[in-house]
Amino acid sequence: MSRTVYVNGDYLPEEEAKVSVFDRGFLFADGVYEVTSVLGGKLIDFDGHARRLARSLAELDMAMPDVDLLEVHRELVTRNGIEDGLVYLQVTRGAADRDFAYPAADTPPTVVLFTQSKPGLADSPMAKTGMKVISIPDERWGRRDIKTVQLLYPSMGKMMAKAAGADDAWMVQDGAVTEGTSNNAYIVKGNTIVTRQLSTDILHGITRAAVLRFAREAQMKVEERPFTLDEVKNADEAFITSASSFVMPVVQMDGEAIGTGAPGPVAARLREIYLEESRKAAV
Ligand code: PMP
Repeated sequence: MSRTVYVNGDYLPEEEAKVSVFDRGFLFADGVYEVTSVLGGKLIDFDGHARRLARSLAELDMAMPDVDLLEVHRELVTRNGIEDGLVYLQVTRGAADRDFAYPAADTPPTVVLFTQSKPGLADSPMAKTGMKVISIPDERWGRRDIKTVQLLYPSMGKMMAKAAGADDAWMVQDGAVTEGTSNNAYIVKGNTIVTRQLSTDILHGITRAAVLRFAREAQMKVEERPFTLDEVKNADEAFITSASSFVMPVVQMDGEAIGTGAPGPVAARLREIYLEESRKAAV
């Protein structure tokens, strides 16, 4: 069945939704995006995603589009009957004759939103089995805190993982893990959760912020610092967070078991708390 998507003020069947070949998102990856999960027909962590969108746009000297984004998200969820899934939002600097320099500031942005239905999103079997990751060098640009649509290296990383029989890749810079291709990365040693501190080296995950808050509220110890691949291999547990995977255990790195080789109790507990609390706060 054809979805209804949103393009620059219009709700259209997906076959009729069009963007210019001169769009700077297409030509320069000059755009930013957000992905918000939907559980039980409601948006998870919407405010966090809206705030990060504003920050990404500001970092690129782009204006916040004059659109009620919450209303568009809700309208698409309703029109497409999304129970569990996600809403993808993209804002680009709009269409202009091809030139590296930005076009005039009053060039209208391109605003696109669409839904993806993922029934049972919160009941992924992987939460029970855990995922396998490989390590790859982090060869992305230096402003990973801006959520741009320039995702080629993460795509290459997923393909490298697939070729190695793994589920994802963790990227390594100067001997320490930055993050996963589309998620933040954590290890657990003793009763301490370790994850890289916020900087321009990683995306400031919305799920990360919520999970660290819940962990501290539950009296778990959190250290925000870089960690090495040796620490991953010697960890008791590892996991990732992202809007679409919530909290997902990682049980293998480069073919070696992490901890017992099975999902650990800290990841399981954090997943439970995150899902419970974020469902309660969903809008
Ligand atoms: N890091 C990267 C590189 C990502 O692409 C994502 C997901 N978009 C994340 C972390 C997780 O961020 P969030 O929890 O906001 O989905």
